[in-house]
Amino acid sequence: MRIIDFHSHLQTHWFRQPLLDEKAFLAGMDKCGVEVSCIFTMMGFYGDCPKENDLLAGYARRHPKRLVPFVTVDPKIGPPAVEELERCLADPIFRGVKFHNWLQAFAPSMARETMTALLQCAARHRAPVLFHDGTPPYATTFQIAQMARWVPEATIVLGHGGLADYVYPAGQYLREMPNLHVCYCGPRAGDLIYLVEMAGSDRVLFGSDFGFSSWKVLAERIDDVTEAKLDASTEAKVFASNAARLLHLDERPLS
Ligand SMILES: [Zn+2]
Repeated sequence: MRIIDFHSHLQTHWFRQPLLDEKAFLAGMDKCGVEVSCIFTMMGFYGDCPKENDLLAGYARRHPKRLVPFVTVDPKIGPPAVEELERCLADPIFRGVKFHNWLQAFAPSMARETMTALLQCAARHRAPVLFHDGTPPYATTFQIAQMARWVPEATIVLGHGGLADYVYPAGQYLREMPNLHVCYCGPRAGDLIYLVEMAGSDRVLFGSDFGFSSWKVLAERIDDVTEAKLDASTEAKVFASNAARLLHLDERPLS
């Protein structure tokens, strides 16, 4: 079974808390049979985005067939955020964008003008935009889904499918909004069936949050998918082919 992890974090530390280094991260991927991981920052949510984006790109350059970096910018700073996004997406190593409104401390409505410009920029580069969702006050699933309406040409991914409290609204939005996707990363084991029912089989992606915690979470999240007993074609789409499509792996194979 081919597995692409659409939600992971690669950074050696989160403030003073040690996380996984590059070697341990790749060892975890190998142990769990993950072919490719989309990697996000942690410290980039708090400050120097260009520095952290370059750090992520460095990991991917060392492991170009395994790691796909997603850029992070801070919408609160306005136009310079759009410039940084353009800078990174001009480099083909970046294939997606990650926002964590909750840790980055912005409500989408408060940065609407910049957010709109950022989503339009991502859409021009055909880069999917994954948001942390499921956490008040800045990142409820309602607030994230709303942005998919602002820029219908953008590919928006609910990074946690509603997490614990918003799985049902996530499903309702997925049913209504064709540019909304969902990363199954965090909701309960049985919720995957509901999300596939609402979104259809083409807009649900596997994700783990690996790197922020140990390889065990990766194994557990893989089990959550296999235990849902989806039909084989849907399972293959969730584990890899939907992600491969959003990352344009057929047109531009990782090399
Ligand atoms: Zn995460």
